[in-house]
Amino acid sequence: MSFAPTDEQLAVRETFRAFAKRSVAPVAADLDENPRFPHDLLREAGELGLFRMRYAPPDGLGMDVTSYTLAIEEIAYASLAVAASCTMQSLMGLTFVQRFATGALRERLLPGALRGDVIGTICMTEPGAGSDLLGLTTRAEEVDGRWLITGQKTWITSAPMADMFTVLARTGERELSIFLVEKGAPGLVVGRAIDKSGVRASPTSEVSFDAVPASAVLGEIGAGLAHLREVLAEIRVVTAALALGVARAAFDEAVRYAGERVQFGRPIAKFQAVQAHLADMAVDVEAARQMTYWAAARSDAGLSNDDEAAMAKLFASEAALRVCDRAARVLASYGFAKEYPVERLLRDVRFTLIGGGTSEILRINIARGLTR
Ligand SMILES: Cc1cc2nc3c(=O)[nH]c(=O)nc-3n(C[C@H](O)[C@H](O)[C@H](O)COP(=O)(O)OP(=O)(O)OC[C@H]3O[C@@H](n4cnc5c(N)ncnc54)[C@H](O)[C@@H]3O)c2cc1C
Repeated sequence: MSFAPTDEQLAVRETFRAFAKRSVAPVAADLDENPRFPHDLLREAGELGLFRMRYAPPDGLGMDVTSYTLAIEEIAYASLAVAASCTMQSLMGLTFVQRFATGALRERLLPGALRGDVIGTICMTEPGAGSDLLGLTTRAEEVDGRWLITGQKTWITSAPMADMFTVLARTGERELSIFLVEKGAPGLVVGRAIDKSGVRASPTSEVSFDAVPASAVLGEIGAGLAHLREVLAEIRVVTAALALGVARAAFDEAVRYAGERVQFGRPIAKFQAVQAHLADMAVDVEAARQMTYWAAARSDAGLSNDDEAAMAKLFASEAALRVCDRAARVLASYGFAKEYPVERLLRDVRFTLIGGGTSEILRINIARGLTR
């Protein structure tokens, strides 16, 4: 399936390319140097409809995965940290609220979340449970008709400024369920922000729960993992788009620099060793692009996509790491300097190897699919 974007998809790409160039790129380095949550940028993205794209009317715009993928790729091209905050908000942070919250709770949270005002999170990972979600120990107990949550989460994106927390907790021996907890709930403590090497403007914290009353059960009790699986393929396609955006940024920087930097009386782009780096980068970028759009198109066509999304995410993130590494080699000492973006891209890109499942876990998933 070759990529032939519709007029609507092209218009989305243009809208978010312009947003990224106008509002994100000029502050990307400063957001990295002086990390802060880019709430103003999330609000601007919200005004452009980013958080409503993937939801059906009347809440959302009912747009396809491909359009969303193109939008995220453009933001990631300017700043992976901003794009990561945006995807956390639009997918995991509010997906289950949009699907399952009802009545006054829905009215209170959803419109603001779709605008980028109300900030959402997904709380799955724990100090002792990362890839192995069935190993999590946070539990929810029903007491006098209320669900009380007790446990410790970590690596929770946007937690320091979050208004709502979607929490995966144990409700039985091998049974997980999803709950909503709101900011200010008694017993809820957002802990220290983790000092990270990359995506530094996408703050990540520990969150602890001491018999915290949930505002709602999101979905069916016991169906937590099944509900997560329903959105997993899309999360992986979008993580591939994050990686593609960073890879493109690193590639463009390397090509530009190689044309300008003169050594031995010639631009370094004239040296075969540098050309080989650029050629390998071009192949990786193009292959990552094709795989990302292919997996997005499969989702839009309603085809099975679990394995394909895992392949796209695995390939795009590993390719993006290679591309950033090669860009740093082309820039040599300047790939090490903060005044050039490649140094930041090389730190940021590692996030795409982890979010949406590590490369090791994805390989296991893909291999299982081959022998099913
Ligand atoms: C910037 C950032 C933001 C994040 N945001 C969130 C968030 O908002 N919400 C949230 O819940 N989590 C979040 N996470 C956590 C992320 O989902 C986990 O880091 C991820 O699931 C991996 O878990 P872990 O780091 O504990 O690694 P582990 O699971 O401990 O893995 C360690 C190593 O062992 C390998 N490994 C583990 N199991 C297997 C196996 N069965 N076979 C082979 N290899 C294996 C892994 O691939 C890895 O190489 C975030 C992480 C980062 C870095």
